[in-house]
Amino acid sequence: EMPTVKGEVCFKNVCFSYEEGHRILDNINFTAKPGQTYAFVGPTGAGKSTIVNLICRFYNVDSGQILIDGTDIANVTIHSLRTQMGIMMQDSFIFSGTIMDNIRYGNREATDDQVIRAAKTVCAHDFISQMENGYYTEVNERGSRLSAGQRQLISFARALLADPKILILDEATSSIDTETEILLQKGLNELLKGRTSFIIAHRLSTIKNADCILYVDKGGILERGTHEEL
Ligand code: ATP
Ligand code: MG
Repeated sequence: EMPTVKGEVCFKNVCFSYEEGHRILDNINFTAKPGQTYAFVGPTGAGKSTIVNLICRFYNVDSGQILIDGTDIANVTIHSLRTQMGIMMQDSFIFSGTIMDNIRYGNREATDDQVIRAAKTVCAHDFISQMENGYYTEVNERGSRLSAGQRQLISFARALLADPKILILDEATSSIDTETEILLQKGLNELLKGRTSFIIAHRLSTIKNADCILYVDKGGILERGTHEEL
């Protein structure tokens, strides 16, 4: 089991391959401080998603260690690890049911009021209340009638209710209008408060606001720094 964490995440000489003999990550090292936001950028196939897959322990490392508050994640149960994490991958945002249920999935105990408050905090409330049945509008896995940006706002509300110390976000890549982009940035800023966050960043506003940008290419971190520094 893993006690509640502060949220320091440390990669020590991490190497990884999906298939034997085909190294994808080569000696990754970084330390993420509690509460800070880390943006991964870099070309397609560079290894960004692979790095966050390893933080979630969807796969085990070949060698090296990933430590959370000094504990090797290889030595804790998957369940206790995942309860510390909010994971927002691009294709896992919406399931069949009402919007209310989709958000409440973050915390089954939450009341309707708490769901609505979470949605308000991350700027999802306005578009939801404009839908024909508001929070009781039915959506499905494909997120019918919801844009990529709206699906992401719902996932923000869900993550806020779950209140994890560590957040993982693969940002929506599909084109997002300026208005939604502003909502996403505001909502994300609220969600990020007090959490260690790893974002595969596609939007410039996210990159600018990150405490640290990690430039990934060919399975390594080639550069790191703030937006101004890079
Ligand atoms: P993108 O910006 O396109 O999402 P990425 O930086 O996230 O790219 P990854 O998905 O981490 O890149 O992929 C890194 C490498 O690992 C690529 O060569 C990819 O083909 C390979 N790869 C990714 N997932 C798997 C998998 N499940 N099995 C085998 N190889 C994989
Ligand atoms: Mg990816």
